[in-house]
Amino acid sequence: MGHYKANLRDIEFNLFDVFGGSETFGSADYPEVDVDTARDVLAQMERLAVNELAESFSESDRNPPVFDPATSTAPLPESFKRSYKAYMDTEFWRLALPEAMGGTAAPPSLIWAIGELVLGSNPAIWMYGGTPQFARIIAENGTEEQRKVAHRMVENGWGATMVLTEPDAGSDVGAGRTKAVRQEDGSWHVTGVKRFITSAEHDLSDNIIHLVLARPEGHGPGTKGLSLFIVPKYEFDWDSGELGARNGAYATNVEHKMGLKVSNTCELTFGEKHPARGWLVGEVHDGIAQMFQVIEMARMMVGTKAIATLSTGYLNALEYAKNRVQGADLAQSADKGAPRVTITHHADVRRELMQQKAYVEGMRALVFYTASWQDRAWAARNRGERDELAERVNDFLLPVVKGYGSERSYEQLARSLQTLGGSGFLQDYPIEQYIRDAKIDTLYEGTTAIQGLDFFFRKIVKDQGQALTHMKNEIDEFLATEPGGEVLAAARLQLVTARSEVEAILNTLYTQAAKAWEDPRQIHVAAQSTTTFLYAAGDLIVSWLLLRQAALAQERLAGGASDKDVDFYSGKIAAAKWFAGNVLPHLATTRTIVEATDLSLMDLDEAAF
Ligand SMILES: Cc1cc2nc3c(=O)[nH]c(=O)nc-3n(C[C@H](O)[C@H](O)[C@H](O)COP(=O)(O)OP(=O)(O)OC[C@H]3O[C@@H](n4cnc5c(N)ncnc54)[C@H](O)[C@@H]3O)c2cc1C
Repeated sequence: MGHYKANLRDIEFNLFDVFGGSETFGSADYPEVDVDTARDVLAQMERLAVNELAESFSESDRNPPVFDPATSTAPLPESFKRSYKAYMDTEFWRLALPEAMGGTAAPPSLIWAIGELVLGSNPAIWMYGGTPQFARIIAENGTEEQRKVAHRMVENGWGATMVLTEPDAGSDVGAGRTKAVRQEDGSWHVTGVKRFITSAEHDLSDNIIHLVLARPEGHGPGTKGLSLFIVPKYEFDWDSGELGARNGAYATNVEHKMGLKVSNTCELTFGEKHPARGWLVGEVHDGIAQMFQVIEMARMMVGTKAIATLSTGYLNALEYAKNRVQGADLAQSADKGAPRVTITHHADVRRELMQQKAYVEGMRALVFYTASWQDRAWAARNRGERDELAERVNDFLLPVVKGYGSERSYEQLARSLQTLGGSGFLQDYPIEQYIRDAKIDTLYEGTTAIQGLDFFFRKIVKDQGQALTHMKNEIDEFLATEPGGEVLAAARLQLVTARSEVEAILNTLYTQAAKAWEDPRQIHVAAQSTTTFLYAAGDLIVSWLLLRQAALAQERLAGGASDKDVDFYSGKIAAAKWFAGNVLPHLATTRTIVEATDLSLMDLDEAAF
């Protein structure tokens, strides 16, 4: 057995019992993927993830790709290539494609369920294998001619990248200086240096399509002046796919990283050796909006990756704890001859295990709750309509999935390691690699600070609280029916209190931000707490989702569940109660801190730090 431990039982509970179920799977919107088909796909994926995909996880960490500047190449380890091929051979990635592109209309929640299994077992596979989702975005935004590029990408198995970051343009994407100059034949010449580009060089495919943000000559500053270009590594015949000349986009370095080492992170230089030809996506200058479609998909991926890693971290810790014998039961400390017990008998270990379990199962529910809105949004789009509410709520939840999900997962992975004692620090166990591989999740696709700003200023203020109001109503409707009866009564009360605390924090932020109309510096008061607010909202939503799961579990227990299910459902109830009782009360302190925030931190001379 490899390092990866899947939790298919919980994934299926979310997909088929708590959220969509048969209202989504096998419905008129998704007729080809019913519950049985989805279960079958997931069972196959689980087997693959645990075996072939997980197989190269540590080997490719210890022997990562090496960049050769003479050839601008960074070939991947053979073991990783075998794992990648095993995933691509399943063709399950076609589930992310519309029928017109050779796919099957599957609910996004199934795609993210597959995503959890791949991202948890070997995340770089999903990242190198993301082409279908890029191709879909090119097809949706491109011209008729450019749809041929999308088709080629899928059918020829080419790689794809998203190219925004530059040495002086990280969080501030609008500071990008990469330039594009229109040519007489309608193509563009791109020049500049991009940095930190995932998958920009590898030998998994014979071509790579870069989606590049660049500033057309004469365009203004900021993100509004950026346009999106298709820049292939090799030119090719758009009809036959036959490769032509090498295009002028070269990897000029591959970074040496803390983790996720098999995923090549490249410096990418355009137009230095010879012209880098590109094509304007859709022949319209709407780059940042188009790139945001890629970014949204990537943010969901990052949150799912983080949570998938925590899940296997927790399950590894749990297995260790059930087997590690150390010390006697504290209640028998007076008896020197008391039998030694496994560490699951120690209160502190139990507390730490429950903390990991509650976070990971709550955040998995957050991923699938978000995905259930994507199911609705995609279904509408497939019908040629728009489901505005679904799109709004999905947009609202993405910074929570990405920002809160990645931060909490990283914190909790440290607890998973702690459960193993000194052994956790060794490379004999996978958790040290999980931690190294998961740190990136709080950084790329917008750091947590950027997620916090996005959540408050765009997803709430700019949205005029529409998605937020919907969420609040959903929580109210849930509470109104008193689900879970007496068993969950105390936890429901804790949720009600927490909801008031989060509302109070939000109102404080509104008041603080409004003062900036009079004195622009006042915006710094609110901005000190936007990340804190993201965490508070995340804790509230996660607790609500845990309670939704627990209420259903309680119902099932009352109806008479099998022995195996009794454990699963009891665990659900325990996790929801634990989270409500141990995490939510901290929100009162958070509220006090946010209310007391002022400008003193900003007034402090930098020299005093
Ligand atoms: C492994 C890896 C893979 C990547 N893959 C890609 C990729 O495929 N494509 C791509 O385009 N990019 C990619 N990136 C780049 C990544 O998205 C950026 O690193 C990230 O956006 C942060 O930019 P930065 O590193 O320049 O940090 P900076 O923007 O310099 O940020 C430094 C610190 O300042 C904070 N900060 C910055 N601005 C603000 C602000 N306005 N308010 C509050 N705090 C702020 C940040 O939160 C952070 O803590 C990748 C990076 C890595 C490390």
